[in-house]
Amino acid sequence: MADKRDYYEILGVNKDVKEDELKKAYRKLALKYHPDRNKEAGAEETFKEISEAYAVLSDQEKRTKYDQFGHAGVDGRWSQEDIFRGANFEDMFGGSGGGGFGDSIFDIIFGGRGRRRGGPQRGSDLRYSMTISFEDAFHGMEQKISIPRTENCSVCKGSGAKPGTEAKTCGTCRGSGQTTSAQNTPFGQFMTTSTCPTCRGRGKVVDVPCTKCHGSGRVQKKRKIKIKVPAGIESNSRMRVGGEGEHGTAGGPPGDLFVDIYVKPHKTFKRVGDDILVENDISFTQAALGDEIIVSTVDEKVKLKVPAGTQTWATFRVRGKGMPYMHGHGQGDLHVRMNVKVPKKLSLKQKEVLREFARLSGEKPAKENEKGLFEKVVDGVKEKI
Ligand SMILES: [Zn+2]
Ligand SMILES: [Zn+2]
Repeated sequence: MADKRDYYEILGVNKDVKEDELKKAYRKLALKYHPDRNKEAGAEETFKEISEAYAVLSDQEKRTKYDQFGHAGVDGRWSQEDIFRGANFEDMFGGSGGGGFGDSIFDIIFGGRGRRRGGPQRGSDLRYSMTISFEDAFHGMEQKISIPRTENCSVCKGSGAKPGTEAKTCGTCRGSGQTTSAQNTPFGQFMTTSTCPTCRGRGKVVDVPCTKCHGSGRVQKKRKIKIKVPAGIESNSRMRVGGEGEHGTAGGPPGDLFVDIYVKPHKTFKRVGDDILVENDISFTQAALGDEIIVSTVDEKVKLKVPAGTQTWATFRVRGKGMPYMHGHGQGDLHVRMNVKVPKKLSLKQKEVLREFARLSGEKPAKENEKGLFEKVVDGVKEKI
């Protein structure tokens, strides 16, 4: 496929273009290239191109991904249908809901205008959800999944007619697969097309149906596909597997398969961007005197030097032990947060030593049963947080 052009360039706008300016630029070009007004060769292609550019740039989330990663950031995450469905074309042309210009944009892109005579249609996109563990997201993984999808019948090669017989041209639509009606819009009269009810858009009808697919030309099949999940993938990511959607009709290309990845939270590691946060218990003597401790990263153990006088919640960074970068080499960092533990049970000897310690620190050591100094000593109640 030829390289896709830059969306900003297509619409002739700057990178910092504001919403209303973007709308204006698109509207001007859309009026010029709309296939119902412009019959020149290539007008429809241009119309699709500018409409896709507008659909992406007018959507904040898609625009951000495009600015960050270019076409790959958008095409890898959204199907063509999602790109166009997400955009509000209708509002900008002032069409009234349900059948204005906005709907016909979708028809132009997907409904088969210019694919007359029951011509090739692209297969539908498919979606699949997958839940993986934190470790799998860290290392990357491969998994075989089984996808039920519609394929062309292998017996009749998708024609629906019993081998040896032929499908006939549909009388209702005369083979176009579509019926047409006129409609008034702010641009004047538009011809609106809808799928032919007799042949359901195929342009052909079958006298002697194929016994395998009962004349539909299509069969449901389960297909095993190996999904390769890259290391460092974030939860709620969407991956595109090109060409693994449903088969197209009449030789049309297949749709795409989109796999939504959900990463299960880990009980000790918490992901923050490309970094990982982990809590680590140390004793109050370790915190006071300093120590060398062993910390578990996701895939190994490392030694970490805790300096004397470390306070609780102090955080230390271990470089390069975070999540692998999905785009590019390297890894984020691991942040180890110290949780200083105060002992709950002390022996008499330990208490003695601590009282001595308090005295040396200039504190008046707490004695048991020292009530009487105050009128009333209240007991604190531990709160659950
Ligand atoms: Zn068949
Ligand atoms: Zn028909």
